[in-house]
Amino acid sequence: MSDHSHSSAPSAPASNFIRNIIDEDMRTAKWQGRVETRFPPEPNGYLHYGHAKSICLNFGLAEHYNGVCHMRFDDTNPEKEEQEYVDAILEAVKWLGFDWGSHLYFASDYFDKMYACAVALIEADKAYVDSLGADEMRAYRGTLTEPGRDSPFRQRSVAENLDLFRRMRDGEFPEGTHALRAKIDMASPNINLRDPVIYRIRHVAHHRTGDKWCIYPLYTFAHPIEDAIENVTHSICTLEFEDQRPFYDWLLDSLASAGLFRRPLPQQIEFARLNLTYVVLSKRKLISLVDKGHVDGWDDPRLPTLIGARRRGYTAEGFRLFAERIGISKSDAWIDISVLEECMREHLNEAAERRVAVLDPVKLVITNYPENHSEACAAPNHPLKPDLGQREMPFSRELWIEREDFMEEPSKGFRRLFPGNMARLRYGYVVKCTGCEKDADGKVTAVLAEYMPDSKSGTPGADNYKVKGNLHWVSVAHACAAEVRLYDRLFAHAYPGARREGDPEDLERDYIDDLNPDSKQVITAQLEPSLASVAPEAHFQFERHGYFVADRRDSRPGAPVFNRSVTLKDSWAKGSK
Ligand code: ATP
Ligand code: MG
Repeated sequence: MSDHSHSSAPSAPASNFIRNIIDEDMRTAKWQGRVETRFPPEPNGYLHYGHAKSICLNFGLAEHYNGVCHMRFDDTNPEKEEQEYVDAILEAVKWLGFDWGSHLYFASDYFDKMYACAVALIEADKAYVDSLGADEMRAYRGTLTEPGRDSPFRQRSVAENLDLFRRMRDGEFPEGTHALRAKIDMASPNINLRDPVIYRIRHVAHHRTGDKWCIYPLYTFAHPIEDAIENVTHSICTLEFEDQRPFYDWLLDSLASAGLFRRPLPQQIEFARLNLTYVVLSKRKLISLVDKGHVDGWDDPRLPTLIGARRRGYTAEGFRLFAERIGISKSDAWIDISVLEECMREHLNEAAERRVAVLDPVKLVITNYPENHSEACAAPNHPLKPDLGQREMPFSRELWIEREDFMEEPSKGFRRLFPGNMARLRYGYVVKCTGCEKDADGKVTAVLAEYMPDSKSGTPGADNYKVKGNLHWVSVAHACAAEVRLYDRLFAHAYPGARREGDPEDLERDYIDDLNPDSKQVITAQLEPSLASVAPEAHFQFERHGYFVADRRDSRPGAPVFNRSVTLKDSWAKGSK
């Protein structure tokens, strides 16, 4: 590979502690060069920015090591799971640009195998049926400082346990009367090893297995088994599972000893979850924002869901860049939302063609330009990519310009239009402002100017005029009026709902009170005619304004609707807001 082709490829991902572990496994041939990871969402909600970090990590490692990443639905919990979420999750992972190939799995497909694993544990005297009620079980468990006590049912014989467990499965008992527990150590300093419950009775149907089961495995029991069944090599999860790792290892080791799985066994590795300022990521809070109508549904562009991000015009490449840039670590930290926004800007700056839109229009009348006449001005589609060509923008006597580009009495340093001043209409002519018209309230209804016929951009005369102001415009007769939604951060505070310096001791903040009242503004803008017929999800930079996307739900060729993805600069940076 030549140096040149190398430099145009994305830079190699930085190393991190997980890659170091895998590199070492490669060196020792622990897995004979195999790398198999998995992304295991519970299908009980929409994916959010935090999941994107996990997806990029798991699928990214598989890509890097020529391995595979499994797409696995952890649907062991009946009730909550729904097909709608399964479909949305698959679409989101695909949208991020990842491919699970033939490796699409559902944990519920393993219920028979999980049952067999439980039976094997009982046969090895490593699990027993407990008949304590939930409250008693809790009392026997002890605390962080006190050891637990053995349940009176802990010494049941293997035969009795096998019989009771089979009858649990056959539906003989009501919920809460019996549970299967691992038999480890009630005095362990790690509470997770004090005989955790691994199966409980639940007389509810499951979205995939229907009425087949009335006992269901607990997540901590099911997850390691899922990994082992699928021959996962590195099982990567977030830090809150660190205390579960001893049970993960105990369980798979016990099952391997019973001959159910072969060694080496999957290795659990924890990393710090994503925390982002100005964002809430907990499912419970997201549900409440949607249910209480603070946002317009799950794909509201302000929500940190991936379907919301997509509608907002955030891109998969931007998320991948973000995941690469923030890296992974072993300790919890907060990432500033501006890092994510900057990644989106960086990718869109590369990818998005330039267009012109006037968001707060006022008319500019060029009094010395002929009526009923128009001519074409050429505008490049991308300043850094001449191969993307140019388009023609019609120029005529009446143009829309931004209201803020005219000041009857200019403030200091103002270089755009004010009576007597010259400025360039970008890609068009230099004009000299001659005054304005106002209504009875003194509001400017039209700005008046004269153009310099020899000043057209791209002609030799253009250089004769040295002007400082440069403004964008669209021809009134040719413009396309369209709905544009100016989205901003959903929360006005960096840590929604958290205590702030100087808060009284007894003050309880609610994250709802930290919502940004200006997070959505709907306007009618005047767009250059080429924007009228764009396809949904097309991205553009509106010059001087930011990056916008044609809304994937509401935009139609002929009737475009645009969402602002991100401004050109960070308007929240210190001092500017
Ligand atoms: P939430 O806490 O928002 O309810 P969850 O962890 O319950 O999310 P799962 O469906 O269990 O959602 O998550 C699937 C995978 O995504 C898990 O491996 C989990 O560790 C990972 N994940 C979830 N939230 C984050 C986050 N904020 N940062 C990184 N990874 C995350
Ligand atoms: Mg979870």
